[in-house]
Amino acid sequence: MEHAEAHEQTRRKGEATLYVVATPIGNLRDISLRALDVLKSVDAIAAEDTRITRRLLDHYGIATRLIAVHEHNERRAVKQAISLLDAGRSLALVCDAGTPAISDPGALLVSAVRAAGHTITPVPGANAAITALAASGLENPHFLFFGFPPAKPGARRHALAALAALPYTLVFYEAPHRITECLQDMNTILGGARRVVIARELTKTFESIHVSTLAQAVPWLEADPNRRRGEFVVLVEGAAASISDSREGRDTLELLLEELPVRKAVDLAVKLTGGRRNELYKLALSLKGNRK
Ligand code: SAM
Repeated sequence: MEHAEAHEQTRRKGEATLYVVATPIGNLRDISLRALDVLKSVDAIAAEDTRITRRLLDHYGIATRLIAVHEHNERRAVKQAISLLDAGRSLALVCDAGTPAISDPGALLVSAVRAAGHTITPVPGANAAITALAASGLENPHFLFFGFPPAKPGARRHALAALAALPYTLVFYEAPHRITECLQDMNTILGGARRVVIARELTKTFESIHVSTLAQAVPWLEADPNRRRGEFVVLVEGAAASISDSREGRDTLELLLEELPVRKAVDLAVKLTGGRRNELYKLALSLKGNRK
């Protein structure tokens, strides 16, 4: 630990570095001591919205100069950043909230700075997706971070259909004015039986983490306008966890049931698909029933 700190001090004095610094996603105290050290000591901070970052800096009594880097001036700002680094200065990159380049600008700057031969040092911290996953209770160790689904219904449905068979927890960001229609599409396309976690206003005053099935999600949102306010992370259980909804589960069981009694077919289907025994058992009974 001490060694790492000493190393960073040396590097800061001698070498131009771009620090990629995570900032809080709501609660201003969710910032690391190291992030504060870096923001204090760099020559400039490249920020998405300088007014928002200024509020954070003022809270911690940091007066470092800010440079605006947003999607409309990113290329120009990249040049400015590289000339500062070329002149031996150090720079921090932040976004409005959370980790830069995660559903936020920053990737272009980072890749240009790397191509220019300067050092990139990440300073990790808050991220809404990881915060939601950690508090979700979803046990699948694998997840797919999708970020924002497309805003237009056709494109969104297409994107969801492409994710429907994946056996990983699906992680989405969504805006409040689209949360209901988005969950409606998820219900239709991914299947109403899957568990969904709606994580709203994480780390803020009105934080809430609601768990239900996709079929129950829209009625729950519609029951109270407050449930549709604020910032959202939506986590949807992967296809494998709800294998009885998927074509894979159904096809596997159908084949096995042609040759084996229900219990044996379910035992094998659990092994083959990784699905839940009780779900596959129910599905087997209904498939058996359909055949009679
Ligand atoms: N870079 C950020 C990160 O590391 O999480 C994400 C920025 S993205 C532009 C903003 C979206 O992240 C919001 O629309 C929302 O979906 C999600 N988000 C950010 N803060 C959140 C919070 N406190 N609670 C829930 N979702 C949040």
